[in-house]
Amino acid sequence: MNAGVVEAPDWDAPQAEVGEKTVFRRMFHFGTIFAFSTITMIGAVTTFFALQAMPVTTYLGLFNTLCFLLWNYLTIGNLFNASFFGPGYVPRGWKPTNSQHEKKLQFCVPCNGFKVPRSHHCSKCDRCCMKMDHHCPWINNCVGHRNHQYFLRFLFFSVIGCIHAIIIDGSALYYAFFAGWNQRYGDGSVPIIFLTPFSFIALIFAIAMASAVALALTFLFVTQLRYVFRNMNGIEDYINGKSLNMRKINDDDDEEEIEWIRSLGEWKYPYDLGWKRNFREIFVSIFDGRTKGNGTWWPVAEGCSQFTFTIDQLLQKQSKRGRARIIKIDQDFEGTCCASRKYGWKIWMKQPIIDGKCLKVSAGEIIVATRGVSGWVYGFRESEPRNKGWFPIAITNLKTNGDPKTEDTTTTTSDEQSTDDTVSSEEKKDV
Ligand SMILES: [Zn+2]
Ligand SMILES: [Zn+2]
Repeated sequence: MNAGVVEAPDWDAPQAEVGEKTVFRRMFHFGTIFAFSTITMIGAVTTFFALQAMPVTTYLGLFNTLCFLLWNYLTIGNLFNASFFGPGYVPRGWKPTNSQHEKKLQFCVPCNGFKVPRSHHCSKCDRCCMKMDHHCPWINNCVGHRNHQYFLRFLFFSVIGCIHAIIIDGSALYYAFFAGWNQRYGDGSVPIIFLTPFSFIALIFAIAMASAVALALTFLFVTQLRYVFRNMNGIEDYINGKSLNMRKINDDDDEEEIEWIRSLGEWKYPYDLGWKRNFREIFVSIFDGRTKGNGTWWPVAEGCSQFTFTIDQLLQKQSKRGRARIIKIDQDFEGTCCASRKYGWKIWMKQPIIDGKCLKVSAGEIIVATRGVSGWVYGFRESEPRNKGWFPIAITNLKTNGDPKTEDTTTTTSDEQSTDDTVSSEEKKDV
């Protein structure tokens, strides 16, 4: 897709804020300390063995060690920057200069202000985060507008670094294994490495950690990169899906509903500017880790406006309000991710954890259900509207005879808040 692009308008935009957490509080947190210690541990152990397996007395050895140290520096530097700069938060109580724009924007109750387009409220940071991707416990901060590129660079270099570490540590282990043989019969061309019990444990631990990190972060990086090419993130993908879903006409829709659906018109995701431009929106230059734009107004595809997305978010909430339904719980559900295993692998695998927690419910309870996705229903008790969560459809009275009508209704109901539609809990869990 290479449609025309409407550049971002130069309307007044709020200054992105750093948030309440000071640098000190962000850095001295379990997640951040864990991330930095893991990198340091893998880095130190691997450098120790790199110097033995491929001594720096040769050009190749020198190049190998310098490359490895460079990955270490880039991983730590980008992780630090991602945490230090933060995503940019919308100032509390913000409202657009043009009051006409107010009705096209979502309002955030905890922040007591309007949400800028593409922002979401993070309950952990208790602030609206610009172009929020997710709250990352390892940087103890949200990933969003300002630190998105640092975060992606961190993922990239940590994957490269871990793969390099596995190669170095793996060869060190190999040389250590044949050290005795090589010492006796070798011609001296192969490095001889002797391991003490302590260095052996450190080596095995480094290989295990590097493999685990490489695997997890490769997966995350590929997912992120796919979104970058679509100028999207996990939350926007989800909302985009709901926008498409909202326009689907179901068999049980009545005349009025069909008319309403038709009045919505066709849906076009407004931020997709063609893959090349999408990529450049995030990766501005090799030497500059900052991302483009003011975090409030964005370039959009031709035919879309600054408010295409926000208006649809408001519509989704409206449509959902009319479609909330009362359901009865037939069986207890403990509200943990393991507890859902009894309802089959498919249900267990498709847990909507990206979009909120599970809800503990007991048989006989009455729940207000606002939406559902593949085998899961989202709802709350009338007495506790703020305590919302997911539970399997199999434990409700909706499961009966696989009635397609009920399945459809829950699938098309949209968005998360029924009573309090202004608070967004769209928060994605990190890996
Ligand atoms: Zn907020
Ligand atoms: Zn956050």
